[in-house]
Amino acid sequence: MKIVFATHNLNKLKEVQQLMPESIELLSLSDINCNEEILETAKTLLGNAKIKADYITKTYGYDCFADDTGLEVTALHGEPGVYSARYAGPANDAVANMAKLLSNLKSKKDRSAQFKTVVVLNLNGEQHVFDGICKGEILKTQLGKDGFGYDPIFKPKGFDTSFAEMSMKEKSAISHRGKAIQKLVDFFK
Ligand code: IMP
Repeated sequence: MKIVFATHNLNKLKEVQQLMPESIELLSLSDINCNEEILETAKTLLGNAKIKADYITKTYGYDCFADDTGLEVTALHGEPGVYSARYAGPANDAVANMAKLLSNLKSKKDRSAQFKTVVVLNLNGEQHVFDGICKGEILKTQLGKDGFGYDPIFKPKGFDTSFAEMSMKEKSAISHRGKAIQKLVDFFK
């Protein structure tokens, strides 16, 4: 079975591919020649995931799933949340986003935070929603070089290392996206 994962992010594609059963072949947006930008204009993670999944199904006719993730920081009242990619500006610059977050947290004692992922699946004319949460804290400095986004400054609860110090497999086993995708995989099974 072929299904589109509505992403251009190769890191995410790899992460998700390794969790999928062999019977499911994932196609990326590049694989279906979708090179246009799908604007994420909703104010919620669910809204943005729906926009992406529905655009692909309506425009290209594929069964499809899309995800949207936000980093919700308690002391910042849930910011950057749905705006995590563009926290420091439209460029989706991970270094600038981390710098802004660390600066905004400088005077805060509470460094607790959580990543949340929402996945929307369009399959055979029906829509299904899955989610996953990973709780943790924001470190004071960057640790590790792997991963992407806020990985170097996020330490998941119960671990001594940042996401960026973990292998992809270790991260997927406990991450927000890993949990949401596992629910999707269980649904397929
Ligand atoms: P997206 O909805 O998956 O594109 O995520 C939005 C933004 O959240 C990304 O641009 C990253 O800045 C951040 N993000 C999402 N997932 C992760 C993750 O697993 N680790 C670190 N940052 C992430």
